[in-house]
Amino acid sequence: MTRARQHSLSRRGFCFCCVSASAFAARGGWVTPGQAFAEANGIVQLIKSEAAKAPITVHRVRGNVTILEGSGGNIAVLAGRDGKVLVDAGIAVSRPQVATALAGIGPEPVTHLINTHWHFDHANGNEWLYELGPRIVAHENTRKHLSVSQRVDDWSFDFPALSADALPTDVFATERTFKLNDCTLELKYYGPAHTDSDISVRFAESDILHTGDTFWNGIYPFIDYSTGGSIDGSIRAADANLAATTDATIIIPGHGQPVSNRAQLQEFRDMLVGIRENVARLKKQGRPLEDIVKANPTAAYDAKWGNFVIDPPLFTKLVYEGV
Ligand SMILES: [Zn+2]
Repeated sequence: MTRARQHSLSRRGFCFCCVSASAFAARGGWVTPGQAFAEANGIVQLIKSEAAKAPITVHRVRGNVTILEGSGGNIAVLAGRDGKVLVDAGIAVSRPQVATALAGIGPEPVTHLINTHWHFDHANGNEWLYELGPRIVAHENTRKHLSVSQRVDDWSFDFPALSADALPTDVFATERTFKLNDCTLELKYYGPAHTDSDISVRFAESDILHTGDTFWNGIYPFIDYSTGGSIDGSIRAADANLAATTDATIIIPGHGQPVSNRAQLQEFRDMLVGIRENVARLKKQGRPLEDIVKANPTAAYDAKWGNFVIDPPLFTKLVYEGV
């Protein structure tokens, strides 16, 4: 990795989704499966060592909801007399910092843990949080993917299964509602989007929506084709998020600025649609991926969105795969 990229990773925190980008950037191009495996293996270790020392930033929003930033994806915490309800678990090596941040919110035990999807940087923290005894809730595909070693083809890497005790125990197919801490929590499956396991979590009375990784604020998103994600599914999910929110809604994205709004979500959706059109037009002309990357189909968006680990060539490739 370049120094600039390492800095960018450290500043925003490492995540599962960085792996392929970093392997790509290190080579300046696509790699053989063997090379990808060797690099991904090294980078997963790097992600873990970075997460182990990264600080957790605490954002108090409203309605007893707090966001913890710094252990993989953004974690939301709803606290009250029914205990703490966590949306996403971060990465297990951040346990000391996350435990301290949770204790700082209040003395309540963790009674519920919701995983927005199966990815490492949102569910690996289940490995320590289960010891606190929460009900672990997720879409049925999240449990399916976490139950077995999970191959991500884009970088020829196998993520190990979670321990049996850390798996979601309470799974659903389309929708689920909980009444906890005077709040109605509405869990809803997107259909295939960033993966095939993504759900949103709405804190109804507080008008807060956690989108999981269907929204990355200000940075190009990863799309996981290995487990059912696609650019078109990502656009459908962005449209669903727009339909579910107003200008008053606080939106918590999977990655990027934790406290976000609908105007930013709209810009994200328009970026996805704009780049999809550009890449589809070039692919229809029969041009190979290398040519399409050179044609800069993301150029109009790079200054704003291209400064994180999913860089313009990689995002072009992720869109190309799905059009
Ligand atoms: Zn993800």
